[in-house]
Amino acid sequence: MPPPPPKKPATTAQGLAALSSLVYSTDQGRPGSRTCPQCRQSQADCRCAALQQAQPLGDGKVRVSRENKGRGGKTVTLVRGLPLPLAELETLGKQLRSHCGSGGTVKDGVVEVQGDHAERVLAWLQAHGHPGAKRTGG
Ligand SMILES: [Zn+2]
Repeated sequence: MPPPPPKKPATTAQGLAALSSLVYSTDQGRPGSRTCPQCRQSQADCRCAALQQAQPLGDGKVRVSRENKGRGGKTVTLVRGLPLPLAELETLGKQLRSHCGSGGTVKDGVVEVQGDHAERVLAWLQAHGHPGAKRTGG
């Protein structure tokens, strides 16, 4: 009986490499780098955050309203329900603000334009790809 062959760590390493090449599409993951629980790619390759950013925030029922509650009497025009991802919502907010010559912001998927511009905002939305936009509230 010949003695048993010495252990070959190379075999194990090759096995792991083969295994990880199945898991990772590229080899850029550093050892010990974490993997994403959703897509199981390394964090470097994970696109979940980007995909999530591309998700539309609104339900597509575009509603324009005018509000002045809890704002020290300042009136703001709000647009809710726009079916756009955040980046496009920001762009639309900028266009609306410049259209109204006013300031404003985008918060929680809602476009805010300072001042009472509901009619103007509504007309702009209807002319720019949101023909179903509706006026609600006061
Ligand atoms: Zn991921």
